[in-house]
Amino acid sequence: MRPRYTELLCKSLNQDSLVSNEIEYLLTPYSQDEREALYKSAQIMREQYSGNLIYTYGFVYLSTICRNDCLFCAWRRSNPNSVRYRKTNAEIVSAAQTLVDQGVNLIDLTMGEDPDVDKRSYLESTAELILDVRKRTGVPVMISPGLVPSYGLALFREAGALWYACYQETHSPFLFAQLRSGQSYENRWQAKLEAKKTGLLVEEGVLCGVGESAKDLANSILAMKELAAPQVRAMAFVPPPSSPKWMPEKPSELARQRELDMIAVLRLSFPHTLIPASLDVEGLSGLSDRLTAGANLITSFVPSDKGLAGVAQNDLDIGNEGRSVQAVLPILEEMGLTQATNADYLEKVMAYA
Ligand code: SF4
Repeated sequence: MRPRYTELLCKSLNQDSLVSNEIEYLLTPYSQDEREALYKSAQIMREQYSGNLIYTYGFVYLSTICRNDCLFCAWRRSNPNSVRYRKTNAEIVSAAQTLVDQGVNLIDLTMGEDPDVDKRSYLESTAELILDVRKRTGVPVMISPGLVPSYGLALFREAGALWYACYQETHSPFLFAQLRSGQSYENRWQAKLEAKKTGLLVEEGVLCGVGESAKDLANSILAMKELAAPQVRAMAFVPPPSSPKWMPEKPSELARQRELDMIAVLRLSFPHTLIPASLDVEGLSGLSDRLTAGANLITSFVPSDKGLAGVAQNDLDIGNEGRSVQAVLPILEEMGLTQATNADYLEKVMAYA
């Protein structure tokens, strides 16, 4: 192992802040020894701040209708083959309750950026939905509605939402313009700052394997530090169905490895934060690798019989109940990890409030 790699891991474990080129160095392990040491360090950091607890989020993908045309997303406006639906409030509450009965700590209400997202009537009905899900299930709610005007964020907070998730996916304005064609980098960033002002917790995230460099990812980590987001995620790009011919058909090995290395470096950079292992990339089969890299939260649990689709993976492991809490418990046990209770989760997030 290169002496500098060891030195930077020690520096991270001591929580000395790293500059951009040091983060970039950590993000590019050159050998299996270095990668194993990186993941081991990330596990030590997780153990220090979360013990052996793993938190769980249920996802309700309530609408796949979107006004945007993000290159990386199956729900993009121009994709004629995307599954399109908008669930009723009753269907959403029922799906949320199924997930809560399984034991998830939070419900994430995820949707495309609706063509009516700027209208008060849409924002008010979404706030009513949040209130309904909160009242019926009793667990915290995260809302992922895309770019929302600030008065909408305030309505969501008043209705009881705890989190607002709105990912840049990259902090390179050049790459952003390609991935999120026609959207404003600044407005998206500003929405998160506005959300924080209303008292919402924010989640920020990046995609891996979309043409970014290690330096871009290091800059993303610095941007996340500036935002002080208590939940940060990295996800490998999954080429959507009907994607342009030049895209690969499944996550490239580079994207996958980048995601895992990024999870580990995020864990070292943000010891206290929630860092997801998403079932929406590789399903159950990819879970242990993500936990090994230092994730302390499993996301994208989806009930099997409600006609709900994943964002990155439409149906992976959904029909066979592979996206259920029960399905992951044996994996947690084998790794010496434990599913967090709702009380554990509240204690964790109250520290962020
Ligand atoms: S990433 Fe979000 S905003 Fe972009 S096309 Fe997909 S659902 Fe719409």
